[in-house]
Amino acid sequence: MDHFLYRDGILHAEDVAIPEIAAAVGTPFYVYSTATLTRHFRLFDEALAGLDHLVCYAMKANSNQAVLRLMASLGAGVDVVSGGEYRRAKAAGFTGDRIVFSGVGKTAEEMELSLTGGIRQFNVESEPEMELLSEVASRLGVVAPITIRVNPDVDAKTHEKIATGKSENKFGIPISRAREVYAHAASLPGLEVIGIDVHIGSQLTDLEPFELAYTKVAELTRELRVDGHDIRRLDLGGGLGIPYERSNKAPPLPMEYGEVIKRTVGDLGCEIEIEPGRLIAGNSGILVSSVIYVKSGEGRDFLILDAAMNDLIRPAMYGAWHDIVPVKEAPAGTELHPIDVVGPVCETGDTFTRQRPLPPMVSGDLVAFRSAGAYGAVMASEYNTRPLIPEVLVHGHQFAVIRSRPTFDEIINRDTIPQWLEGSA
Ligand SMILES: *Cc1c(COP(=O)(O)O)cnc(C)c1O
Repeated sequence: MDHFLYRDGILHAEDVAIPEIAAAVGTPFYVYSTATLTRHFRLFDEALAGLDHLVCYAMKANSNQAVLRLMASLGAGVDVVSGGEYRRAKAAGFTGDRIVFSGVGKTAEEMELSLTGGIRQFNVESEPEMELLSEVASRLGVVAPITIRVNPDVDAKTHEKIATGKSENKFGIPISRAREVYAHAASLPGLEVIGIDVHIGSQLTDLEPFELAYTKVAELTRELRVDGHDIRRLDLGGGLGIPYERSNKAPPLPMEYGEVIKRTVGDLGCEIEIEPGRLIAGNSGILVSSVIYVKSGEGRDFLILDAAMNDLIRPAMYGAWHDIVPVKEAPAGTELHPIDVVGPVCETGDTFTRQRPLPPMVSGDLVAFRSAGAYGAVMASEYNTRPLIPEVLVHGHQFAVIRSRPTFDEIINRDTIPQWLEGSA
């Protein structure tokens, strides 16, 4: 359930009418719902009730400072994957002991930044990374708390670009080599091994891969304890999927996911961390766009919008589906016609969907892409010199711009002319 509903035939975000926001900020724009973000965080928190746990929001899904501030205020931890995200977490008010650093390519600078600023743990992904982290920590006179990300060789049954838990993927160390890698880590002076990390992919719509992976983690926990490691924290990653297509079978609920966690690793006495991103932010946001033209082609029609692949790349990149709805609800019984929904960018990849049945629309009408709160704004670019679009946060009757649209001068002035070209035009 989210908080984007029709009232008197007009799509609202909580208590705010979408056309009111469109009039204030112009289209296209993203709008997020505080109530939905809050609700989704709490669903995870409640799903792990009874276990010592921390829900660490994976900010790569949506790292706007206002969203992060909201998460921090709810008591979340945060999962970061770059020095930039670490800085965002600190700026939003997360203390170091709530920041988990994940990612396959951490640099010495990023390690130093987080060892100095405070860190809950590093999720280490390779032996070279272990060695570098130990070196950096020793040089700073501190000890880095780590888990090691294991690759359980489980098929997450999701899109190939976001599956991370098979042995051919770049992530983690093979679980078959875990005991030897843990022994290596324990021998390094700058590290303290505290647990195990696993993350098998994103947009999982089935619990079985989680169950398989977590069962392997439970076995490994017992083995590593026998080897003398004090395994006391399990980071179980993120990845629970969301319903992008309302007509499809709904993916499992956080509560059911929590049951899997309790069943597989609940009796180990470990503190449990999870890192959901998409499920917290995805259905908490929509992308609103205006129709520029309705164009008739040979055998097919095109709805040309002012939003494009640079604003929401998921359809072009993953072939992803987003429900598209008119902001002004079509009267009951309106006949739907198949139409290709496209943006103005100069490549065919800039197609949101083909032959989607939609009610008739005209220039100036507003449409909304649902489930656009995760991996939307954060993956946007300024391709075709289209400014990054504004982000808006709604809270009950209030709304605020939480990232404004840059001006064209700001965009152009980011580039500089080298001295040898000055005066040449
Ligand atoms: C991307 C990612 C997540 C979040 O995945 P979602 O599918 O958005 O829940 C969590 N942990 C790690 C290590 C990730 O790379």
